[in-house]
Amino acid sequence: MILDGKKISEERLSLLREEIARSGLQPKLATVIVGDDPASRLYVRMKQQACERVGIASVSVELPVDCAVGSLLARINDLNRDTSIDGILVQLPLPAQIRPEMVTSAIAPEKDVDGFNPLNLGKLLSGNPLFVPCTPMGIMTLLHTYGIRTEGAEAVVIGRSIEVGRPCAVMLLNAHATVTICHSRTSNLKSHIKRADIVISAAGKARFINADMIRKGATIIDVGINYEDGKLCGDVDFEGVQQKAGAITPVPGGVGPMTIVSLMENTFRAARMRR
Ligand code: NAD
Repeated sequence: MILDGKKISEERLSLLREEIARSGLQPKLATVIVGDDPASRLYVRMKQQACERVGIASVSVELPVDCAVGSLLARINDLNRDTSIDGILVQLPLPAQIRPEMVTSAIAPEKDVDGFNPLNLGKLLSGNPLFVPCTPMGIMTLLHTYGIRTEGAEAVVIGRSIEVGRPCAVMLLNAHATVTICHSRTSNLKSHIKRADIVISAAGKARFINADMIRKGATIIDVGINYEDGKLCGDVDFEGVQQKAGAITPVPGGVGPMTIVSLMENTFRAARMRR
C-alpha cells in the first residue's frame, strides 16, 4: 500500500478551506525568514501558497543573513503582540550566529504553530499536547488515515532532532507504540529496524534503508529529503523496499505535503483558540 500523502493532504486542505469559510474567521500566519537560503525560501513559498488555498492570510518578514539576534527577537515580540496574527513560523535552519532555542523560546506558545517552543515540546512529553511539530503530526495523521495500528506496535524512529525524530517518538509513544529511537551513534541499527512494525526514517541519508533491512509487511515512513545526482530521493530505496513493505510513503508525495497541511491545521486551531 502506498501511503499517498499528496492525495490525503489535498483532501484535508479542501476540508480545511470549507471549515475556515464556515467559521467566519480570517486566520493569519506570519512567516519569518532570515537570509536567502534557496531551500528555505522554497519551503516558505509553499507554505504561503497553502495558506492562500485554504483562506489563511499570510505576512512575510524577511531579515538579512547577518541579522543580529536582538533584531530577530524584537520582530518576534512585535508579532507576539500583534493581535491580528494567529500563528508565527520562523523557518529553520537559522544562520550560525543565532541559536535556534533562543528563537523558538521567544515565540508565544499560543502562536507557536510549528510546536518547537520548549513549553509546547514539554506539553507533548507530558502527554497533554497543545501545538505539536508539523512533520510528526503529518506522519501520525497519515498512519491514522490509513488505519495503521500504533497500539502495541514496535516503532523504530531513526533520527533524534527536535524537529522530527524526538517529537515523532513521543507522539508514537502517546499513541501506545513501543518506541526505539536510533541515531548516528546507535550500534547495530539494522537489528532495530529488522524487528520494527513501523519504521520512521528521518536521518537524511539517501537510500540508506534497503529491502534486506526491513521486516516483511512493515510500515515504512520516509521523511528524508536528499538529492542524488540532482534528483530528489528519500532515506529509503523505494523500488526495492516497496516489494517487501506492507505500506510505504513515496518521496516526493509522502510526508512533505502532510507537513504543510499540518501547519495549516495548527494555524486554524490557533485562530479558533485565541478568538
Ligand atoms: P537532522 O540532521 O537534524 O537529524 C538527522 C538525525 O539522523 C540525527 O539525529 C542523526 O543522529 C541521525 N542520523 C544521521 N545519520 C544516521 C545514520 N547513519 N544512522 C542512524 N541515524 C543517523 O535532520 P532533521 O531536521 O531531523 O531532518 C531529517 C531528514 O528529514 C532530512 O533529510 C530533512 O531534509 C528531512 N525533513 C523532511 C521534512 C518533510 O516535511 N518531508 C521535514 C523536516 C525534515
